[in-house]
Amino acid sequence: MCGIIGYAGLVGGAAERVYEGLLRLEYRGYDSAGISVLGEGGITTIKRSGRVSCLEKAARELGGNIAIGHTRWATHGAPSDVNAHPHNCGVFSVVHNGIIENYSELKEELAAQGKKCVSETDSEVVALLADSLYCGDPLAAVAAAVRRLRGSFALAVLCSGFNGFIAVRQKSPVAIGVSSGAYFAASDVPALPDEAEDVYFLEDGDIAVVTPEGIAFYDSALNGQKRISCRILRGQFTADKGGYAHFMEKETAEDARTVRDTAEAFLRSADVGGIANLLKGADEIIITGCGTAYNAGLIARRYFEEALCRRVSVEIASELRYYPPPSGKNTLVIAVSQSGETADTVEATLRLREGGASVIAVTNCGYSAITRIAHMVVPVCAGAEICVAATKSYMGQLAALYLISRCTGDVAAAAEELEGVAEKLEEVLSQEERAVALSELFAVSFAVFFLGRGLDYDAAVEASLKLKEVSYIFSDAYPSGELKHGTLALVDENTSSLIIICQPQTAKKSVSAVHEVLCRGGEVAVLTTLPDVARELEDFLPVWLLPPVEPRLAPFLCAAALQRTAYLTAVRLGRNPDKPRNLAKSVTVE
Ligand code: GLU
Repeated sequence: MCGIIGYAGLVGGAAERVYEGLLRLEYRGYDSAGISVLGEGGITTIKRSGRVSCLEKAARELGGNIAIGHTRWATHGAPSDVNAHPHNCGVFSVVHNGIIENYSELKEELAAQGKKCVSETDSEVVALLADSLYCGDPLAAVAAAVRRLRGSFALAVLCSGFNGFIAVRQKSPVAIGVSSGAYFAASDVPALPDEAEDVYFLEDGDIAVVTPEGIAFYDSALNGQKRISCRILRGQFTADKGGYAHFMEKETAEDARTVRDTAEAFLRSADVGGIANLLKGADEIIITGCGTAYNAGLIARRYFEEALCRRVSVEIASELRYYPPPSGKNTLVIAVSQSGETADTVEATLRLREGGASVIAVTNCGYSAITRIAHMVVPVCAGAEICVAATKSYMGQLAALYLISRCTGDVAAAAEELEGVAEKLEEVLSQEERAVALSELFAVSFAVFFLGRGLDYDAAVEASLKLKEVSYIFSDAYPSGELKHGTLALVDENTSSLIIICQPQTAKKSVSAVHEVLCRGGEVAVLTTLPDVARELEDFLPVWLLPPVEPRLAPFLCAAALQRTAYLTAVRLGRNPDKPRNLAKSVTVE
């Protein structure tokens, strides 16, 4: 959340380069945007509430060799011009991603010295503090300020008269790409220009001094550090829509490719024996994540329980991190995060690892915080996912988790099953008229309930999240057996229920749920892989019959169908599915 950019180059056009980077980073926040450029007469700042594009004209005029920029997802202080970053004080201009937890104390302390904040943000104190500690050496001032800060922060700092910028990482990510004659820092790799193939990933506590001539790394006590760059294959990280109207549409179309690539990478590189030993040796197995990654964990729990014949728990990371410390059991944590930087997932996992747990990370970003904590990393090969709502990364997480769960058995056979799934995903996404019909129903509904039993319920949870986040229609998921324990009270002619029926052993029970809703006047539609169920119901309600598949793999197909439906519903209602209100991608704040 929030995107920061820094640029130091031998040739001009710094503001424009930062502007272009911000456009590529806008999925991380779009409450406001701003740029500061270093010029001979000092620092010039432009910042506005609203989208990055409002800076275009000014950015093209500003030029410069050194600049920083920001696209905001507000945590402290409403989205407004004054709260937009960069925040300036004296010789410093600062952009920040994260939360400064001790900002109130610092604010008071600085106010007593006559340095008053003009914004309501936590971030502004960084500029004030650096300025209050400045005695002519920008690096010393920034390092001294950083030593006083608590919380999570990625910073890019300009100082008048210093021909470069200073980048800092404490829990929030910073990548620095190198191209000939220029250095480019960003919160995330897709924001780096294509030519920046060699990338440094700052580690927690790092301070980097970046000038057009070079880069130097320090810890907060200003001891020099050595960091090695990695070569990034840019193809994987391209951030363009490839001819689609929205990223969500493009990324859903990449569901099948993601399953294939994830399975192929697993077969090529996973330490299957090592994973099997971790699974067999663990007294307890905990899958953790947030949002969609947690929802992938719900499905995966069933895979692990079936394969290992034992109970497995799945925990929301923002809750897990505050549970009592691990009990001394031999714990295996499977941490799932698209960005690998999800603050709660990283913190919960770190805490369990410090308590002795083994960690397998499942992530789309092989260079992220979670990979540094993990004993093993299982890649999700989705490539850059720009739409705030996760689509293909969920598919890749399901594939990776399925394969991990099969490591004590026949992994090659599981990978073959996934190839079959990939083919069926393409078929599902060609059933466009079904998705259109469902989106028409959803778009006129006051609320949409997603119901199912067992794995169908787990699939319903993610389907509901997808619909609500991109369409803003109230939506929730319930196990169909729970209907009569309360939820039926919400059903009337203005609500729709989508009932997922893909598990033969509970199909009859779920058909009963259909009737329970229908006879109370609610609209009902059914998503099923079971031809018998379709035959029984299709004469009196809308039924989407998916291709037949092994029941445990049905959640893949349901996800593709309901991702596409959520997308069409959002577009029908005039929403921008790529940038849902109030949300942002890469949740690096807690
Ligand atoms: N806390 C800062 C603000 O509200 C940055 C937020 C973020 O990184 O998401 O402006």
